[in-house]
Amino acid sequence: MKLAIKHNHEQLIDVDTAVAKVLSNVDELDFEIKNIIESLNHVCFEDLLATIDIPPMDNSSMDGYAVRSGDVKDASLDTPVDLKVIGTISAGQIPDFEVVQNSAAKIMTGASIPKGADAVIPFEDLLTINEESIRVVGMISQRDNIRDAGQDVKQGSVLIQKGKLISAADIGIMASQGLVGIKVVKKPVVAILATGNELLLPGEEFEKGKIYDSNSPAIASAVTEAGGVPKILGIARDTYSSLKEKINLASSCDLIITSAGVSKGDYDIVKDFINDRGEVRFWSVKMRPAKPIAFGWIDINNQKKIPIIGLPGNPVSAMVAFEKFGRPAIFKMRGIYNYSRFVIKAILDDPIDNYDGRRVYARGIVKKIKKDYHVSLTGSQQSNLLTSMSKANGLIVCPEDINRLEAGSIVRVEMINWTG
Ligand code: AMP
Ligand code: MG
Repeated sequence: MKLAIKHNHEQLIDVDTAVAKVLSNVDELDFEIKNIIESLNHVCFEDLLATIDIPPMDNSSMDGYAVRSGDVKDASLDTPVDLKVIGTISAGQIPDFEVVQNSAAKIMTGASIPKGADAVIPFEDLLTINEESIRVVGMISQRDNIRDAGQDVKQGSVLIQKGKLISAADIGIMASQGLVGIKVVKKPVVAILATGNELLLPGEEFEKGKIYDSNSPAIASAVTEAGGVPKILGIARDTYSSLKEKINLASSCDLIITSAGVSKGDYDIVKDFINDRGEVRFWSVKMRPAKPIAFGWIDINNQKKIPIIGLPGNPVSAMVAFEKFGRPAIFKMRGIYNYSRFVIKAILDDPIDNYDGRRVYARGIVKKIKKDYHVSLTGSQQSNLLTSMSKANGLIVCPEDINRLEAGSIVRVEMINWTG
């Protein structure tokens, strides 16, 4: 086995420096064309310009009568004005007549305004209506109840901005332009590899001394939540040859995420493996959990540098490290530059000790009690307790330079699972 040479002494860096290193080593991906209906939650690749006005023509916002406002400017209950009905216009029709003086055309919501008319009187504002005529008993202003062409979207204007996360409304807007496809930023394909001699695949028969791989399914799901496309590679054993065999399956992926084997144990070979095939950029971060976390790149077929994140093995550490480094990396690849979580300032109900100058991300449960947000710990904060992650809706931040957060203090909580 080749020995590590580039990282033989531990360089502990802070979380923000580590995140910046990750981000400067991943790039926004190229575009692909998606059918609009499949573009939800993708990022718009370039400014999309409107090719038609919306609405495309002046049209009525009410069911009523299209009139010339000048004809009825003096209309009142005492001085009603009768107008002759000269036709009916339904939505989708182009009227072939003009509303001349003292006439009106029956019109439906969404129908084109006929020539000559400059306002619409809704049915409910008319005193008498019959087939031939209407009696108007109040004045109406020019353009009343008319929706102007281009009121919503002007031809040539930016319909959807580059970098916007496409929403359901955006898909409606694209459809209103008659579009079928759109250029979106590709979603990164993320290879996920568990490492460890002790691991079994879910579904395999239980063996004494072994554990089931919970990291791959959890991290794959977190990748999906972050908008990536997970590709689970399975389990590599703690040998170079096994790692090599599995990692080779990731040659077409945009990011590789491994778990375990990045600590200081006898079988922790992931860092050495990365250094052998590429470069380790850092492998130790001043945070708890997840101090051993490797980041770098590898080259699988002499083709391209693929960024690789070596998460710690303990399930909570793996998930917190993914949250801190994997999620921002995936966001950047998708063309999203704000990866911050919603932060709540809450009253801490349990004290948190921080004894060695790391940034602590404690698992917390935020609740609104009367008008205050309170946050309590999920229980023991050991990094193997995955149920503590399941209970948490936020990560309570204890800064590096604070030795103890007392109960009652106000803390920042990064909401990882917040439905309001
Ligand atoms: P390591 O970093 O390899 O020393 O692993 C740290 C701890 O995480 C050990 O207790 C491992 O058994 C556990 N672990 C490693 N990989 C997984 C996994 N895929 N699923 C669940 N636990 C794991
Ligand atoms: Mg191990």
